[in-house]
Amino acid sequence: MIVRIVFHIDLDAFYAAVETLQDPSLAGKPLIIGGDPRRRGVVASANYAARAFGVRSAMTTARALRRCPQAVVIPPRHSLYRQVSARVMALLGEYSPVMEQSSIDEAFLDMTGQLPAPAAAPETARQLQQEIQTRLGLSASVGIGSNKLIAKMAGKADKPGGVTCVAPGAEAEFLAPMPVRALGGIGPKTAQKLAEIGVKTIGDIARLPEEDLSRMLGANGLLIWQFAHGLDARPVQTRRRARSISREITFAHDVYDAALPAETLKKMSRKLAHRLQKRDLTARTVTLKLRYDDFSTVTRSITQATATNSPADIDRRARFLLAKYRNQARPIRLIGLSVSRFVKGVFQPPLF
Ligand SMILES: [Mg+2]
Repeated sequence: MIVRIVFHIDLDAFYAAVETLQDPSLAGKPLIIGGDPRRRGVVASANYAARAFGVRSAMTTARALRRCPQAVVIPPRHSLYRQVSARVMALLGEYSPVMEQSSIDEAFLDMTGQLPAPAAAPETARQLQQEIQTRLGLSASVGIGSNKLIAKMAGKADKPGGVTCVAPGAEAEFLAPMPVRALGGIGPKTAQKLAEIGVKTIGDIARLPEEDLSRMLGANGLLIWQFAHGLDARPVQTRRRARSISREITFAHDVYDAALPAETLKKMSRKLAHRLQKRDLTARTVTLKLRYDDFSTVTRSITQATATNSPADIDRRARFLLAKYRNQARPIRLIGLSVSRFVKGVFQPPLF
């Protein structure tokens, strides 16, 4: 049997690092990339200087600033991050043709057969890290393992700037002391169920009979049992392009009226249409997302036979969904719109 060698590359504090490249005077200062605190913005990313004060992604910017009042706050510039990300991914592609980008700043590389010898993996990882630093000015952490799960968990073990290699055969032992929540696929509810029977670490899971876990967790049981043993057969898959394009905003105040959501959808429709047009795509599905003041969230979609990238069409479909599914009794906190089920090609308006 061939032992696979998988790298997981994760850029360190990526958005903050890109902003610091643009403005080197930010280096070393606590930096938050996030929305306006007066408009209930949230932290998209923070550098390590800010994290030292307890700033974390997804907390409100206002809260982050209470923890670290001296932090510089910069609104996210996603198109810039996408451009830099594309350069990083191109560089990674030079190391292996089998690359799977898993987010804007993370990717798996299948290095099986790409190395002079398996023992050369850590050295190659450090070389890759160095090249990302010298060519793009960015820091990355690399995890090395015999599968995607282990590579990803290894990468997290020594951030920022680490290279961590888990030797084949040592997977289960590496995972054993970690809390169950560290394992992908275990959310708070599952963790709660496990805690009730005294299962706290991944090692505890591995000691359970597979049947018990499947009885408790249903269809997920087998997968979680395999993960807990460090087993993961998922291949590194070269990704097709993004399958949806979306936008969303959190309103500065909870919204009761009908005009603002409709106006917001109109603007979003224009932006989504523009992005589709730039990529020469049309979309068949439009999805509306609403989050109410109590954080309950609904998403509703409409799929039509005709694909479109016209702002008016997208807007019409969005407003249909809003009229049909909005709960009038609750004010809206967040609204989002996305398009998916892409068809390649330019929209041709029907001839009269
Ligand atoms: Mg990262």
